[in-house]
Amino acid sequence: MAELTLTSEASLVVIAEPNVWRLELRAAHSPGATVEPPGDPTADVGAGASRWLVEQLIDGQETLLPLGFQLHRFGPAATSPPPGERPITSDQTNRSVVIGEQLVVKWLHRVDDVENPVLRTLRQLAEVGFDAVPTSFGALTWQAPSARELPCALVTGFLPDAVDGWQWCVEALESGQRPRFAAELGLLSAKLHVALGTPSALLPLPMLAVGAAQIRTWHSQARQRLDDLAEQISALDDAPAGRFGAQPRQVPSASLAGYREQMESVIDRLLDVRGRTPVQLIHGDLHVGQVLSWPGGLSVIDFDGSPVREVTATERQPAARDVAQLLLSIDQVGRIVDRRSGFTRTAEMNAWSTVARAEFLAAYRTELARVERPDVLDPRLLAPFLVDQIARDLLYAIHFLPRWGYATIDALETILNDLPVPPPPPEQIPT
Ligand code: ADP
Ligand code: MG
Repeated sequence: MAELTLTSEASLVVIAEPNVWRLELRAAHSPGATVEPPGDPTADVGAGASRWLVEQLIDGQETLLPLGFQLHRFGPAATSPPPGERPITSDQTNRSVVIGEQLVVKWLHRVDDVENPVLRTLRQLAEVGFDAVPTSFGALTWQAPSARELPCALVTGFLPDAVDGWQWCVEALESGQRPRFAAELGLLSAKLHVALGTPSALLPLPMLAVGAAQIRTWHSQARQRLDDLAEQISALDDAPAGRFGAQPRQVPSASLAGYREQMESVIDRLLDVRGRTPVQLIHGDLHVGQVLSWPGGLSVIDFDGSPVREVTATERQPAARDVAQLLLSIDQVGRIVDRRSGFTRTAEMNAWSTVARAEFLAAYRTELARVERPDVLDPRLLAPFLVDQIARDLLYAIHFLPRWGYATIDALETILNDLPVPPPPPEQIPT
């Protein structure tokens, strides 16, 4: 355990748990009094701690703090925001505080003791001038006994009137306004991946290539995940659909049993991938909820990693991971709309999902072609990764949010009927 005193009222405590470090903001001198949950009377501690971090960034350069903590400044210099701190109260895994309506301080709750690429990713985006993210100003890190530097808190610009994709995409689909939103997401993700895959002073060689051994590892992890899911899926059978307790359309264990063999054979397509495939920095948890719509356009947030990220995940991964996750989440937007209609729009949503996913991919590929970076996406990985993403999402639902399971179960049929097809290898293209 390490405890960093931030102010006379607040300290940050790092606590060892099996394979993971838990981070807690605590009221000083009252052991055990943590500031969770948001809205707690001790929320002042989160406000004070966040203001402290912002002031440190404004004052100092890279500052070494006691006990292995360190402050990193990057991006433009921050100026002191006006008074006022308030917690963000929407659904969230971590704790975020808005300072003077200008900055957001995000305190992570847990960090795995693995190479965490978030700082490198945010720095790279700043370095190449990618502006569809909130401006990053800096971070607080802690060096674990493993010598890895782990993120504890991140400071970014606050986007006023921002709405996350689980809201704006659902509204776009229900209202029929913004009918091309899937294409907007495709263009945005392509730009993000190209930015992360562009050589810079920070990252002279942003693209690496991996071969058969790594591809076989992805394959066995995906098969293992599907096996784990099959063992655990009945945990979702009694779950409601959504937060208002609706009755779901399908029984998760029965649906999965019906599709399992097909899912296995799609995962097995990874074994047909010949040669090498590119890996790079990616987002790593890219679903529509990570895309904010605000008066300045679209902005991607939450680069600090997925709550179900593999401990063995490498820093560089295929862009196809992010693309697969976004494709599934676009379908899930349709599932939410269907659920909100009392499941009366299922056929319409199936048809919509097929078109929307095709539009997403077309926009993504068109942008890669325009900037002459088709190397960013290996389309051979898409179908197996999409099936793997289905398993990841269902495991997430089992462990964290059972009422979300329906949105993936209902996606199965359409997604499996209509998997992305990679273009034929060059020698088969008719001349
Ligand atoms: P978590 O990892 O806890 O899910 P996120 O980084 O995804 O946290 O942020 C949670 C919510 O906070 C977002 O859905 C969004 O509504 C809001 N939010 C996050 N960052 C910003 C920002 N820079 N500007 C405005 N709102 C933000
Ligand atoms: Mg998030």
